Amino acid sequence: MAELPNCPQCSSPYTYEDGLQLVCPECGYEWTATDEVSEQETLEVKDANGNPLQDGDTVTIVKDLKVKGSSMPLKIGTKVKGIRLVDGDHNIDCKIPGFGAMQLKSEFVKKN
Ligand SMILES: [Zn+2]
Repeated sequence: MAELPNCPQCSSPYTYEDGLQLVCPECGYEWTATDEVSEQETLEVKDANGNPLQDGDTVTIVKDLKVKGSSMPLKIGTKVKGIRLVDGDHNIDCKIPGFGAMQLKSEFVKKN
């Protein structure tokens, strides 16, 4: 059996489990067990087909995209290597040869 954590209120070692909760008999504090350090919230980014994307993936642009500050559009079929997922409206950070660093929306790419 896993060892129960001490009471966060009074540090009592006599805590016990009551269903999903932990209870301290000394001070009466009740809390929910969370021994495992919760993982860092992972970004959920999906491509045009609904497949999950990950940092480092290679994707293909599925739609001609206008690029701010450039007269050339980003062409459908352009491969983008080593994407990095970020939080926000444009949720992919990447570098594209000929364009440099830019941000894309995941809905306009598909995973290779
Ligand atoms: Zn306690």
